[in-house]
Amino acid sequence: MQRRRKSATCICLLFAMASLPACHSCAPSLPLRRHNVVLIVVDTLRADHLGCYGYGRPVSPAIDALAANGVLFAQSRSISSYTRESIAALFTGALPSRSGASGWNATPGDHTAVLAARLQSSGYHTAFVTNTNLLTDPGFTRGFEIVRQLESAWGVSRTSGRVASAALDAVTQLAPGPFFLYAHFLDPHAPYDPPADLRSRFVTHRDAPEVEVYRDLRPQLGLFLQQGFGPGEARYEQMVSRYDAEIADTDRAIAALLAGLERLGLRNDTLVILTADHGEEFLEHGFIEHAWTLYDESVRVPLIFAAPETLPRGSRSQRQASTVDVATTVLALLGLDPDAASGDGNALFEPSGILAPDKGQHPYVGELRVAQRNVVRALASGRWKYLAAQRWLAPDERTAAVQDQDSRAAEAIAPNAPLVREELYDLDSDPGEHHDLAPQSPPILETMRKQLASWAAAVASTTPPPTINAADRERLRALGYVE
Ligand SMILES: [Zn+2]
Repeated sequence: MQRRRKSATCICLLFAMASLPACHSCAPSLPLRRHNVVLIVVDTLRADHLGCYGYGRPVSPAIDALAANGVLFAQSRSISSYTRESIAALFTGALPSRSGASGWNATPGDHTAVLAARLQSSGYHTAFVTNTNLLTDPGFTRGFEIVRQLESAWGVSRTSGRVASAALDAVTQLAPGPFFLYAHFLDPHAPYDPPADLRSRFVTHRDAPEVEVYRDLRPQLGLFLQQGFGPGEARYEQMVSRYDAEIADTDRAIAALLAGLERLGLRNDTLVILTADHGEEFLEHGFIEHAWTLYDESVRVPLIFAAPETLPRGSRSQRQASTVDVATTVLALLGLDPDAASGDGNALFEPSGILAPDKGQHPYVGELRVAQRNVVRALASGRWKYLAAQRWLAPDERTAAVQDQDSRAAEAIAPNAPLVREELYDLDSDPGEHHDLAPQSPPILETMRKQLASWAAAVASTTPPPTINAADRERLRALGYVE
């Protein structure tokens, strides 16, 4: 756990407090103290495919209703576009370079505080329920009393309802609590294979052949592009509508989960948070799937906090927010020491439940550090977004990289490795990030380059040794990289 960055603030607070007379009635009110916490993560969920973020198709009534009863962060992003890096940061409140949970096998190391363990040590009962098989490493389940990994196969669909049922079973076991439930729904992740009723309701262009991301597009994307595959083309539109139907399936499961909490009489004492680990690319920058870039289609995710009668209702915040803020925010709202999970996160609310003032001093920092693919950092502040790559495969180089990745050792990219690519976008005039302003070298480019470099240098100076799990170590040893 890193405390160095916060120490100046703490000292200031101590001085401020020392100058005030003791006043018990001035103690901050903690309306969420001992509240249950339900953290819902929907894998691969783009914010712009939800009604509450402006989407035109009615795929997300339950999530929209949750937002209407809570606070929606309109500018929220995930810190990575790769699941394991993103969830590690969600749990630790620290970015990959700071925590060491980076790369293909990222996992929260034993040296890092994780939210579940922190809550458990404060008297919370804890449960982890998911249908992804990507988070089985003990680093992810540390601090959870109940762990339900519902699927051993990869890429499941039509199982969101089972996650909701298992989550409610776990809650029943943990009651009367207080409890922390982590529920991770994989279904919107490819392959996009929704249940029949939602397929007939939401899937368009049903006469077109079904194109599957991993089976068809990954190995021969170039061929599909030559054939005109893309926005407006039937196979593409059908594929995206199947993704929408998977969102609708998960939304239905979330409705069941929230209704179950209500039925158990727990809803008024529960803080519900909904977010995603990353978005999904649909050719906005020449490729598909995720874990390749930090463009907004890969990182713009929902972030909603709802607690009836406690947090503001129907509020939309325009402040910069990201998934790395979640752990710190939860601890602050519960009246627990946010420093226990801090590193890069900022509390988005005051302990009293009102939104924390946004003075614009907290830019978004994202990191994708999968050495087999791309190693990129992002900095977004106000209208500007800066991307700096230390390893970069162009879209037409990625198919070969994917076919090769399982047999290759990861060549770790040093935190301070030289940049191989820089991009700069004005999100006000170019929200799709298509007009790279870096070649024009505007003054803001140098400012953001320095800002990100100084963040990276500070992090590198405190980064603990990287963690290597047993399977990774075995693979590296077989390749002669580890003694
Ligand atoms: Zn994911």
